[in-house]
Amino acid sequence: MENQLFKRKRWLLTLTYASVMGCTLGLVGYVFDRIVTNLSYQSVQKEITSLASNIHANVEYKLAIPGKIPADIYAKIPELCPIYLNCQTQFQQQHRHTLVNIDRYYAIFIDTSGKTRATLGIYPNVPKSSLSSLENLRWDHFHDRAGKGYQQLTLEIHTPDNKVWGYLQVGRDLTDINEYLNNIHLIITIGIIAIGFIVAIASWYLAGLAMRPLSQSYQQMQQFTADAAHELRTPLATLQVIIENGRAEYQHLAPELTNWLDRIERQNIRIASLVNDLLFLSSLDRPDNKPIFEPCCLTEIVLDLVEEFAITATAKSIDICSDLDLDRQIWIDGNSEQLYRMGANLIDNAIKYTPTGGKVAISLTQTLNDVSFQVRDNGIGISDADKELIFNRFYRIESKSLPPQHSTGLGLAIVKSIVDAHSGQLTVWSQVGKGSIFTVRFVRNLKIN
Ligand code: ADP
Repeated sequence: MENQLFKRKRWLLTLTYASVMGCTLGLVGYVFDRIVTNLSYQSVQKEITSLASNIHANVEYKLAIPGKIPADIYAKIPELCPIYLNCQTQFQQQHRHTLVNIDRYYAIFIDTSGKTRATLGIYPNVPKSSLSSLENLRWDHFHDRAGKGYQQLTLEIHTPDNKVWGYLQVGRDLTDINEYLNNIHLIITIGIIAIGFIVAIASWYLAGLAMRPLSQSYQQMQQFTADAAHELRTPLATLQVIIENGRAEYQHLAPELTNWLDRIERQNIRIASLVNDLLFLSSLDRPDNKPIFEPCCLTEIVLDLVEEFAITATAKSIDICSDLDLDRQIWIDGNSEQLYRMGANLIDNAIKYTPTGGKVAISLTQTLNDVSFQVRDNGIGISDADKELIFNRFYRIESKSLPPQHSTGLGLAIVKSIVDAHSGQLTVWSQVGKGSIFTVRFVRNLKIN
């Protein structure tokens, strides 16, 4: 059980380390990716701006009539092609050394009515957006029908007498930039996954290192408890013999001695029972001490328990009943000694914490997949806050409505350990003043019945 606890904690620590590191890495990767993307687009914008200024410098003062491109501009920029000549195919077929890198960049002269007048390079085939609301310049980022990305600058250009001539659009095909950015994304993603993997392994190792001293001191504490309980057994048994001998030999000399001996015996029995519980719990905790599991008849175990506790219940005027079906016995694979102890602790509690005249009902049922053992009482009940704590070792609730009980606070801790050892489930329903229902569910692992 302790092993399970430490394993769970180790997993939890590993998960926490790995998630914190994973989130940090993810964030760093994301920020790095954004910085590289922004820098790349900024450098593209710079290139486009410089190209646009270059073209603008070549045409400035020469565009005298709005919408008309004079012949000397074609001489100055030989790559510029009037719209009535189809230069696109020619551009696509030949790669020339020109003023503008026409493989990637393009420029378009558009008049004020939105008609293209001349082009340069291979421009994207997309519907033109309205230019009427343009204020001096505008940046656009768009994709053509084939999904190719473009960055484009649109400028308003003027005649020497400051009339609007039209517009100049200069843009760039972003295929190479996007390929570069995709490679960066891929490298970052693979890097994060690889580092995440290394971090997860390192976290598992570090969590193990962090747990080691805790696990060792827990084991030492358990060993100490087991040793101390073991050492106490002999003197307690000897004390019991002394009490019995004393009672037999000296009772007739001093009758009041019986009273004293009875009180000493009661305390001795209490300590012996506590020591037994501690020994039992530490044996359940030891990972090397696996109990022998064999087919157990739960019906018989519960029948024996009802018989055993009938005397205690009757002494307290508590009605104890069970709904056992003796013709359809219920079996599970388990350890009968532990299962008996589990049932005994639950029934003992139900009788202890139910006032005189109350009722305790025990039921054993099975479905296709599981077996359910239930102990119900109409006793004092347990508050919601205590329900969380009653399975902790040495946790006890002082009851005002009942006389002091013989209790150690280990009973339910033992029940929980036994249920865990049998891979079962233990649940409690309770309401103060109304009673409690403790239910244990086991997987039906034997198909005998
Ligand atoms: P113990 O009975 O020895 O004190 P347990 O671990 O069995 O220790 O129980 C812990 C506490 O849970 C008890 O002190 C008691 O207050 C509460 N409890 C357990 N069973 C019941 C029950 N059936 N009804 C009300 N209270 C209960």
